[in-house]
Amino acid sequence: PERHFAGTPGDAAHHAAGPLDAAKIRTRFPPEPNGYLHIGHAKSICLNFGMARDYGGICHLRFDDTNPEKEEQEYVDAIQEMVSWLGWDWNAGGSSHLFFASNYFDFMYRAAEYLVSAGLAYVDEQTPEEMRANRGDFGRPGVNSPFRDRSPAENLARFQEMRGGKHADGAMVLRAKIDMAAPNINLRDPALYRIRRATHHNTGDTWCIYPMYTFAHPIEDALERITHSLCTLEFEDQRPFYDWLLGHLADGGLLAHPLPHQYEFGRLNLTYVVTSKRKLRQLVDEGHVDGWDDPRLPTLVGMRRRGYTPSSIRAMVEATGVTKSNAWLDYSVLDGCLRTDLEGKAARACAVLDPLKLKLTNWAELFGSSAHVEHSSAPAHPNVPELGQREFSLGHEVWIERDDFMEVPVKGYHRLYPGNKTRLKYGYVIECTGCEKDAEGKITAVLATVVPDTKSGTPGADAVKVKSAITWVSVHEAVEAEVRLYDRLFTVEQPDSGDADFLTFINPQSRRVVSAYLEPSLAQVAAGAHFQFERHGYFVADRIDHQAAKPVFNKITGLKDGWSK
Ligand code: ATP
Ligand code: MG
Ligand code: MG
Repeated sequence: PERHFAGTPGDAAHHAAGPLDAAKIRTRFPPEPNGYLHIGHAKSICLNFGMARDYGGICHLRFDDTNPEKEEQEYVDAIQEMVSWLGWDWNAGGSSHLFFASNYFDFMYRAAEYLVSAGLAYVDEQTPEEMRANRGDFGRPGVNSPFRDRSPAENLARFQEMRGGKHADGAMVLRAKIDMAAPNINLRDPALYRIRRATHHNTGDTWCIYPMYTFAHPIEDALERITHSLCTLEFEDQRPFYDWLLGHLADGGLLAHPLPHQYEFGRLNLTYVVTSKRKLRQLVDEGHVDGWDDPRLPTLVGMRRRGYTPSSIRAMVEATGVTKSNAWLDYSVLDGCLRTDLEGKAARACAVLDPLKLKLTNWAELFGSSAHVEHSSAPAHPNVPELGQREFSLGHEVWIERDDFMEVPVKGYHRLYPGNKTRLKYGYVIECTGCEKDAEGKITAVLATVVPDTKSGTPGADAVKVKSAITWVSVHEAVEAEVRLYDRLFTVEQPDSGDADFLTFINPQSRRVVSAYLEPSLAQVAAGAHFQFERHGYFVADRIDHQAAKPVFNKITGLKDGWSK
């Protein structure tokens, strides 16, 4: 895909400040392309793009690709796909606002040289251990590095050597010269550049030094004329450095006012899953789930495959609002948003997930032949007539749910048991007469007779009163399908908040695969299509494995709240 760069290396500042000036509000979503996006990122995406939309501004999609080791093109592509899928457009207004931080490496290097010349940065040759020990901690001031008082000229020469490849990885770093006794540890001479010989996905082997995130990010924001740099709460202590850096670069004439401001918001966490990239990777690599798009994962690719819609995810993120504390959101909120989204649009269909055969023993007597079928039809949606009608037929044998029959009914049970009547929804009232069992006593079929003249939609159909209606699919036209029933991936709300290994909380029942029977309207549906299976909940035709010849559906969520069992 074509890449739009903010500027050729060397004139990033000039280029970015030019055509970008118009918008009053400018935000950015700045993912590092080192993994797949998850629900927490959706919060940041919706916040940044939503703010731009609401205030007539522009939101940039910026790849924060300043760390060569873990970044890959695969993630760059996947991230773009998911931002679009969520419904956001970084080309709003007709011009592209897709940026790569690595295109500013040249400018960042010049900015660092400026700080060195101005006596605001120095090359430190302490070992990493010494640096850590001399940093101090809360309540204990740090100790100045012995290299801190070299002259700007000496530092500049050293920094140029770093860039030129004269020194080994890790031999020295460039640090800001601020205050080793600052109460805010982030101001104790933070590192700006490190030596790292690694091939970068965009700049290849051009550089052997790379900027640190804390140095790079404010510069990226400033070059792109971001007005509101929204980040999660843990960056609050970085804000003084953000302002220190941009202020000095503006004083030196490298950046122009107005400068961006950083604002912090609370992270979004979802119960019953983990969102740390490292833990998600562990779940995938160790085979606890079936890949990054496993429908149980809170990755956006996983949630899409599970069947969550972009609007349900956006609604859920909006429901959490923007707060100054980290939010724990329950999966039930997400499920509620999905039901709200699909209730008015998903076509209805009948599916039998735990099939038991029902034989209508007076069928041939009533209709002249066991091969006779009675045509039925029902609206695809009870109040969206545009979705049309579903056509199906009733024959002498149908599949029903195993739990729609009880040989000995419990109190309050109104479905099939010997002597009781129920309605086959959209069909006839039937009366149960008994059941068949195999040698082990397992029930293999239910027996019933059709009560004549009770067909739904015909005059007098309601003359025989029943207390229940059950769903069914005729044996002669049932579509066999694999249905994947998903539940919470973990058995506890916050699997990674305690001392125990989060893997010990994996729910062994989180994925169950059943062989189901579906009504014939589901024979030819497109992968990714959503349905409400009557009485069961919301399902989606799996976007990868579903085929007309071998249908595969995923359960998204039930019709009601709670653990779906
Ligand atoms: P992780 O901790 O999963 O590795 P990250 O923050 O390091 O996530 P980035 O790619 O840097 O991953 O994130 C891009 C943006 O998404 C950042 O602005 C970050 O603050 C935001 N973000 C990441 N996780 C969450 C979350 N749980 N809630 C809200 N925003 C988040
Ligand atoms: Mg990050
Ligand atoms: Mg990270």
